[in-house]
Amino acid sequence: MNLSTNQAQQTYDVLIVGSGASGGWAAKRLSEAGLKVAILEAGRPQSSANFSEHTPKFKLKYRNMAPEIFSKSRPIQSKVYAFSEYTANWYCDDSEEPYTTAPGKPYNWLGRTRVVGGRMNIWGRICIRYSDWEMEAPSRDGYGEPWPLEYKDLAPYYDLVERYIGVNGMAEGLEERPDGVYQPPFPLTCLETHFRNRVKQKFGRTTTLQPTAVLTQSLNGRGACHYCGPCERGCMTRSYFNPVFTTVADAVLSGNCTLTTNAMAYQVLMDPDRNRARGVSYIDRNTKETREINGRVVILCAQTQESVRILLNSATPQHPGGLANASGVLGHYFTNHIANSGASGEFPEFGAKPSLGGPVRPAGVYIVPFRNIKGQAPRKDFLRTYGYEGYASVDFNWSAHGYSEAYKKALHTPQVAFSIGGWGETLPRFDNFVEIDSTVKDAYGIPVIKIHMSDGENEDAMSIDVVESAAEMLDAAGAKNIRLHPKPAIPYRPNHEAGMARMGSDPKKSILNQYQQAHEIQNLFVMDASGFPTNPSPNPALTIMAVCVRSCDYLMEELKRGEI
Ligand SMILES: Cc1cc2nc3c(=O)[nH]c(=O)nc-3n(C[C@H](O)[C@H](O)[C@H](O)COP(=O)(O)OP(=O)(O)OC[C@H]3O[C@@H](n4cnc5c(N)ncnc54)[C@H](O)[C@@H]3O)c2cc1C
Ligand code: SF4
Repeated sequence: MNLSTNQAQQTYDVLIVGSGASGGWAAKRLSEAGLKVAILEAGRPQSSANFSEHTPKFKLKYRNMAPEIFSKSRPIQSKVYAFSEYTANWYCDDSEEPYTTAPGKPYNWLGRTRVVGGRMNIWGRICIRYSDWEMEAPSRDGYGEPWPLEYKDLAPYYDLVERYIGVNGMAEGLEERPDGVYQPPFPLTCLETHFRNRVKQKFGRTTTLQPTAVLTQSLNGRGACHYCGPCERGCMTRSYFNPVFTTVADAVLSGNCTLTTNAMAYQVLMDPDRNRARGVSYIDRNTKETREINGRVVILCAQTQESVRILLNSATPQHPGGLANASGVLGHYFTNHIANSGASGEFPEFGAKPSLGGPVRPAGVYIVPFRNIKGQAPRKDFLRTYGYEGYASVDFNWSAHGYSEAYKKALHTPQVAFSIGGWGETLPRFDNFVEIDSTVKDAYGIPVIKIHMSDGENEDAMSIDVVESAAEMLDAAGAKNIRLHPKPAIPYRPNHEAGMARMGSDPKKSILNQYQQAHEIQNLFVMDASGFPTNPSPNPALTIMAVCVRSCDYLMEELKRGEI
């Protein structure tokens, strides 16, 4: 989609780069309030015509059996569990959009979607609130910068976002994990209930349903989930939250929002005399032409590494180290989560008949953090905390041996397993950072980023505790054949990146204020997770959305008061 000449000459009130979790909300909030908004989205248009959750494999060209064909153009993206022949073209082509890494520090930057709605097309939908205790951690343990806002500032925005996106979950009344505004929860299975009771009895730890942005009751024309399973391929009943048919659709429906797809933002354009952002330059991915669009306010919502890349690529003589980077911290304090260590065990006594194509509940279980929480002496081996995500499964015995009837019988012996893995905070370290790699450009001529990321002692010690504690809980619940899953040599990085343009109250140490507004450039905001000073253990998207809506409300007040 190209802008017409008239549109190109128009000055929008607000330009938003990206249409995912944050960009969708910014567009909805601002356009519904009457501001003229333009979204620039690097990806292609998305609609339910592309959803394939009910399409059987045999209808696909390669029956979903030839991953090599798709991993040729997407060797990195194909590593994410949600990737398959069904949706390969929702992801960027790694050869067209490369990035580089520092020697000895491999980093899989996964989930680089290129469709409207961003990563929310394929996300796991888990929505957990941060607690005050976690947000205050830097003031307590002295590591990193404290958040310039508190849980009480966010609470009404969590409520607002949860009500709209529709989250189902079990309220547990725990201070260390605040409850949300929930729809009725999916039920736990017998095995999950057994595990929950045993682990509570023995350790006082809480196993609950993962709160997920999946409807159990219809909402705003969206239907309740019917347990079909492969949510990462879309959802025709719109049961899980995806900006495509919610926030972005509402924004466009308001009549105040122009969505331009295949628009790869390159730089924020500055007016040097007034030290203000005046627009954005972008490359039309279809024609490879460079275009410009004007706006009174620019909001970057392109996902952490992408937004920081734009800021670094936008350097000017007045902002030589990248926009708004007088503090020198832009690109630094890159964080993610530890993941992929844990344990699993078998529970044969819970045997149920395995089935193919049966109902699939699109949510697992969650074990609420129990390390370094309020009221406990802090641990000596690591700072901060982690929670577990897990699931119980009943499967066929696919590794059965033998032939004929004996094989058939063995195959049908139910394999009942319970697996849990820890998801924990990685500390924000200055030496985990991205910079522009001036030797490499993408297919659109835009310099790429080089990622420097490694785990430190804290992440290693936390991962060891994750494995040991998982095994002790499975043991207490009566699991057989417990298997430990230690941290792999090349750590798996989930898609929970944050930091690098951190918020803070001191402009000498941070890029953004508590409303994600650049300290140095009044009309420039970064409303994705780039501003997060730390990356608490819960999955980030719910907080990304809540912080973004809060920042939009501030932006509108400032515009009204003529301050921007
Ligand atoms: C497989 C997977 C599972 C996940 N599961 C969960 C989960 O269960 N819970 C949770 O909280 N989080 C989860 N996440 C993380 C979550 O999806 C992200 O934290 C969240 O989507 C980030 O929001 P965002 O707005 O920053 O970016 P996105 O939602 O990714 O949106 C960014 C958009 O910007 C566009 N863009 C990028 N660069 C440019 C550019 N230069 N110009 C124009 N547009 C651009 C992209 O195409 C994209 O559409 C998951 C992620 C993945 C990949
Ligand atoms: S399992 Fe539920 S949320 Fe997932 S695609 Fe099917 S209906 Fe949608």
